Amino acid sequence: MSARPGVVYLVGAGPGDPGLMTARSLELIASADVIFHDRLIPPGALDGAREGAELVYVGKTPAAPSMPQEEIGKRLIEAARAGNSVVRLKGGDPFIFGRGGEEGEMLSDAGIDFEVVPGITAGVAATAYAGIPVTYRGDASAVAFVTGHEDPEKGATDLDWKALAGFPGTLVFYMGVKRLAENMKALIAEGRDPEELAAVVERGTMTGQRTVVATLGTLAEVAEREGIAAPALVVVGKVVRHRLALAWLERRPLHGRRIVVTRARAQSSGLAATLRGLGAEVVELPAIRIESRIESDEVQNAIAAIDAYSLVCLTSPNGVRLLFEALEAAGLDARALAGATVAAIGPGTAAALAERGIAADVVPERFVAEALIEALETVEVDGQPVLIARAAEARDVLPEALSERGGKVDVVALYETVREEPAPEDVEAAQSADYITFTSSSTVHNLREALGERFPDNARAISIGPITSDALRDAGIPVQTEAKRHDVNGLVEALLAEAGGLQPK
Ligand code: SAH
Repeated sequence: MSARPGVVYLVGAGPGDPGLMTARSLELIASADVIFHDRLIPPGALDGAREGAELVYVGKTPAAPSMPQEEIGKRLIEAARAGNSVVRLKGGDPFIFGRGGEEGEMLSDAGIDFEVVPGITAGVAATAYAGIPVTYRGDASAVAFVTGHEDPEKGATDLDWKALAGFPGTLVFYMGVKRLAENMKALIAEGRDPEELAAVVERGTMTGQRTVVATLGTLAEVAEREGIAAPALVVVGKVVRHRLALAWLERRPLHGRRIVVTRARAQSSGLAATLRGLGAEVVELPAIRIESRIESDEVQNAIAAIDAYSLVCLTSPNGVRLLFEALEAAGLDARALAGATVAAIGPGTAAALAERGIAADVVPERFVAEALIEALETVEVDGQPVLIARAAEARDVLPEALSERGGKVDVVALYETVREEPAPEDVEAAQSADYITFTSSSTVHNLREALGERFPDNARAISIGPITSDALRDAGIPVQTEAKRHDVNGLVEALLAEAGGLQPK
């Protein structure tokens, strides 16, 4: 059910990985009128907010006074009274060190309807992503979530350090970086074994998650040496040893590798998601953007005469998408291609056709124009009307070869790739990348031009195929590896082989 007017939703956004947001939280974010949010919410958490929703940041800003809790409560009440549906979005779970309890009470006192949507708390999620089960038969039958924020040397602490030291199970400290040394000392002083295992999980479930393991006695020193910073959790207990077998995240083949994806944003998501799934930290640096040209006379004429073509060649998934958009705009569908032989330049293009109900008649094994020309040798071309629907700036080998064989070739540009200006923070992140992937020669030219001096020279270039590799060499960029199969899956395989996660076949 979507967010109701006059109601405040106290919503947990989970520990940082956007995939760990609950279905309910996404639904409420999508329908709320006003969203009050903290700093520690997952990247992109608010992307699904509806247009026109008011987004209000009420979190802490380092070096600036943060909004007092009273004030936040007042604003929630005001917004609800004005008839808005209100989401109060917090990192992790709203009731675990999130002051959600206090906000709920203020709403209750004011007679405002509210609902609580739990989130996955960092103490459970960051530990799980670090391969530490917080309970484990025989090792820990209890777990305590503790604030590490209070000063154990001041009398004013709510924490009973003696009880914590004697706690028969795992201790998980939130907000525990600043006082790490004092807290560990306090536990040892009250009798906890200094040799017990302990860990710090930094940025749990987020890109760049790091874990350090030491003993209770040495953890503070090790964490300091490694430069551990908030947000981080401290885990004390025998269960830390299970990381040896359970640290699944850090074992993924591309873990810790920063990889730049240079495709147009519209196309990059598949590749980016695959690489993230393999553990990589992905920086998207789109060098190009696809601009549709289906309104042009050239395309409109081809669509009007689509029945007449005996051969239709498509050279990219974007081309397929736009051809079908143009057909649809003209009130046509896949049946318009019923009489033609349909050729796809490679498996990606063929897959895009298949999604629209067309099994390509010709698909070469290798994904280059020359291979398509070869594959088309058995197709009758002489005297036949042929449509090549493709990008504006493509090479001319295919039309030339088919014209030479007597085809009446129409080449139409369905789209143009234009240069995109990458965001400065992405350019910065790319400087320390391990790899940079190139999926077309136009990306090479455009990125080189867009970045100039800021081109990430230290990142090793992974190329999708020979044409892209030539473009790289022409631009003075050494090619580290070229994919054996010239599509996105081939590119991923090349990266895995290169990064040592998989031996080349
Ligand atoms: N309500 C939140 C906790 C807020 S207190 C929850 O349920 O998770 C903030 C503290 O939570 C941080 O100082 C840190 O100790 C911990 N924390 C939050 N996100 C974290 C993350 N991704 N990795 C490690 N610790 C995290």
